[in-house]
Amino acid sequence: MQIEGLYEIFRNSTGITTDTRKIGKGQVFFALKGDKFNANNFAEQALAQGAAYAVVDEIEHAQNPQCILVDNVLATLQTLANHHRKTFDIPVIGLTGSNGKTTNKELLMRVLGQKYKVHATKGNLNNHIGVPLTLLEMAEDTEIAIIEMGANHQKEIAMLSDICEPTHGFITNLGKAHLEGFGGVEGVRKGKGELFDFLKKHSKIAFVNETDPAICSLVKEKEMALVVYFGKDEFALKMLEESPVVTFQTPDNEDIYTTHISGGYNFQNMQTAFAVGRYFGVPHNEAAQALADYNPDNNRSQVIEKGSNSFLMDAYNANPSSMAASVTNFGKLKTDKQKAVILGDMYELGEVTEEEHAALGKLVSEQNFDVVVLYGEHMKHALAHLPKAYYFTDKFSIHNWLMDSKFSNTYFLVKGSRGVGLESILGVM
Ligand code: ATP
Ligand code: MG
Repeated sequence: MQIEGLYEIFRNSTGITTDTRKIGKGQVFFALKGDKFNANNFAEQALAQGAAYAVVDEIEHAQNPQCILVDNVLATLQTLANHHRKTFDIPVIGLTGSNGKTTNKELLMRVLGQKYKVHATKGNLNNHIGVPLTLLEMAEDTEIAIIEMGANHQKEIAMLSDICEPTHGFITNLGKAHLEGFGGVEGVRKGKGELFDFLKKHSKIAFVNETDPAICSLVKEKEMALVVYFGKDEFALKMLEESPVVTFQTPDNEDIYTTHISGGYNFQNMQTAFAVGRYFGVPHNEAAQALADYNPDNNRSQVIEKGSNSFLMDAYNANPSSMAASVTNFGKLKTDKQKAVILGDMYELGEVTEEEHAALGKLVSEQNFDVVVLYGEHMKHALAHLPKAYYFTDKFSIHNWLMDSKFSNTYFLVKGSRGVGLESILGVM
C-alpha cells in the first residue's frame, strides 16, 4: 500500500498502537519486531481487541482483510510519522545530548506552554520507535513541537532528525554517556553532532549555550551558520544558589525564584529553556515562574524528605558525566545534617568501565562525605580510593544494612544506572 493510502487510514483511525496490552477501539496496530518478540503473531489478537487495522510484514499473518501487508513495519511507522510531520508548518524543536534531555524537554514544554499549544515527547519516548509515535500523536492545533531524541550509537540522531525534520534544535551537553555504543567520547561528539549536521544542511536554527565550550567547539568545527547564542548575553538568568535547590533571578528585576531541582547542571537546563522561550516571545516573568514551578516526579534530581532524613534522588540514571555533576553538586551542598552518598554501578561503559568507576572513586574521596555506600559489581573499582566505604552487591544486603543502620539527620545522594534501580532504598528508610 502507498503511504498516502495508509495515511488516510491513520487519519480516520483513533490513533496508533504497538502494544496489544493497550489497544483502543479503532486504532491501527503496528506489529513491530524486536530481539525477543514478533508482534506479527499478535495481529489477529489486536483486531479481535478492537483495532481497526493491523500493519504486518509477514504474509502468513496478512490473511485477514483488516491486515495491511508492508515490507517492514518499523520503516513504515517512521515514514508515516514523517508524512504526518510534513503536514505541519510550525516550529519543531529537536533536542539531543548526553544528559538532561528529558529535563530540558519538560522545562521547555512548560515555558513555551505559557504562550503556545505545545506537543512534546511523553516521558522518555526518544528512540527510533518513540520519536515516530510522538509525532503521530501530534494534534492538528499544535503550535510548537518539542521532540526528545536519544541515541546510543552513530547515525541514530541523523535518522531521527530525518523523521522529525526539526526547524530548530539544541544539544543539551556532550558528555560520557553510552560510551560503549558510540565508541568513546569522540564518538559521542560525532553522534550528537548529527543534529547540527541536519540543521546546517536545511538552514535551520541551532540554540547554543555560549558557556559550554564543548558545544561551542562543535559549532565552530561544523561552521554552523544560523546560531542563536545565549548564556552570556544580557538576557541570561543569574544563579544565586545551586543546592539544595537552584535559586535564580531574571535579568529584569530583583525577584528571587526558588525551584524544586538541584545543581548547576540543572541551572544550565533552565537557562536553555528560558532562552528558547525568550526567542519564541514568552514573557520573562512567565518563563521564570514556569521554571520555578517544575517539580520532577521521576527520580531526576528530586529532593525527598523522610523523617529527619533528606534524599537527593537522582536514581533515574547515571553515566560518568552526570555522576560527576551530581557528586560535586552534592559536595557543595550546605546542610547541618551528615552527608551520605549511595552510588550504584554505571552501565554501558564497555572497555572504560574499570577506569571510569575508579575515577568516580577518586572524585568521591575528594569530597567530604560522612558515609559512602557503593552498590554493584563495577563499583569494586571505586573501592581502592574509598577504603572506608560500605560495599554491597545485592539488594537484600544493602536494604538490610540500611534498615539496621537507623540513619537519622542525614542528607543522602542516591544515584546509579537505571538498571540498578536504587530508588528501591527509599522503601526501607
Ligand atoms: P535518557 O538518556 O535516559 O533519556 P536524559 O538525557 O533525558 O536521559 P534526564 O532524564 O533529563 O536526561 O536526566 C538524567 C540525569 O542526568 C539527571 O538525573 C541528572 O543527574 C543528569 N543531568 C541532567 N541535566 C544534566 C546536565 N545538563 N549535565 C549533566 N548532567 C545532567
Ligand atoms: Mg530522557
